[in-house]
Amino acid sequence: MVFQSLIERKRDGGTLTTAEWQAAVRGMLDGEIPDYQVAALLMAVVWRGLGPEELSALTGAMLSSGATLEFSPGTPARIDKHSTGGVGDKASLVLAPLVAACGVAVPMMSGRGLGHTGGTVDKLESIPGFRVGLTLAEARDQVERIGCALFCQTGEIAPADARLYALRDVTGTVPSIPLISASIMSKKLAEGLTGLVLDVKVGSGAFLPGLDHARQLARTMVALGTASGCPTVALLTAMDRPLGRACGNALEVEEAIATLSGEGPADLLEVTLSLGAEMLLLAGIEKSGAEARGRLESALAGGQAREKLGQIIEAQGGNPAVIDDPGVMQQAEIVELFSAPRSGVVQRIEPRQIGEAIVAMGGGRRKLGDAINHAVGFVITPKPGDRVKAGQPIASVFAADEAGAALGVETLRQAITIGDEPVESLPLVIERIGESSGRV
Ligand code: URA
Repeated sequence: MVFQSLIERKRDGGTLTTAEWQAAVRGMLDGEIPDYQVAALLMAVVWRGLGPEELSALTGAMLSSGATLEFSPGTPARIDKHSTGGVGDKASLVLAPLVAACGVAVPMMSGRGLGHTGGTVDKLESIPGFRVGLTLAEARDQVERIGCALFCQTGEIAPADARLYALRDVTGTVPSIPLISASIMSKKLAEGLTGLVLDVKVGSGAFLPGLDHARQLARTMVALGTASGCPTVALLTAMDRPLGRACGNALEVEEAIATLSGEGPADLLEVTLSLGAEMLLLAGIEKSGAEARGRLESALAGGQAREKLGQIIEAQGGNPAVIDDPGVMQQAEIVELFSAPRSGVVQRIEPRQIGEAIVAMGGGRRKLGDAINHAVGFVITPKPGDRVKAGQPIASVFAADEAGAALGVETLRQAITIGDEPVESLPLVIERIGESSGRV
């Protein structure tokens, strides 16, 4: 195979065969194809896209580049949820223990922060001692024992995605419907799931901000999952403002625990319950959306979901004291209050600016392998549509040093718009895309 001719064919709008995609993935992993040629092919895909057969060939080749989780007979329904990435999106931290507390097995393999978006794995590592690097055998045993494992992608699962993901992050090739779809679905289909719920973000904080693109991404992934025998449902949810109030790793863990204790922000709770209801329906545990929500609400109110998070933390070596005392996590050196510069209605809270500032303040990575400061971030109290008064404290900046605090304050000044009239925001849950037409 002359790899250059495959790049040229894709560049000119042609298609690659299944055998060629398999050879490309194999060659990349064997080191036969250098990164610069892989990057050129990725850029050609960004421009030219992939036909359905090519997408399924690439996803299949990435999936079979590694192992898959195999569960013992008798393990209950195994359902995971995956988000396409956002700012302040800590729904997984609430959802995984909550759904597991309702009797569903949740093998949740998550990623680290990508670009301006946070990652569940980085958030979990805010908890002292928490070990995200489980082997597949450890993850399977833990799921079978306590119903849930929260772990990161290892070399064992979809190693081709790990290579491509890192290359895409530095070559401007993340925002592509087929590449995002193949990346997410190759990992998820390796988890031995019986169902999958996708949270596809819409709005300026998402990788693909427009509704049409988000819809197309959701449909593409739902079709891939369904064709592979894994019933898949997607919810399109709002990312035109951060989700919840806290943005930044340890701050988000604290907010997730508060939500499991019945004290979380309403928007985070609503997105979590909507996704959770879909998970229970896919698991066959409830027959209607209303019943599924009812079961989730009672697992929250009865404390079982919070207790389940404690079990997961303990099983993975984390300090369970965090449940009662978030102060065991790294604390920011400087906390600065930010007050509303004028009276009026909050019109916009720009998520991308907030996410980029967290990276710049040390809460994310600029390059592979960078250490991160888990304590930095923001807590922003009002939501678009809320009225505020001039001088009223509306946010806090958590920083590692004076420069970070100054950057944080300046970011809030630019990211939060206060005006005279409310501006329309996206509905929290915009649309459901799935095989069955039943709405939750
Ligand atoms: N999440 C993934 O796992 N892959 C992408 O390409 C984007 C978000």
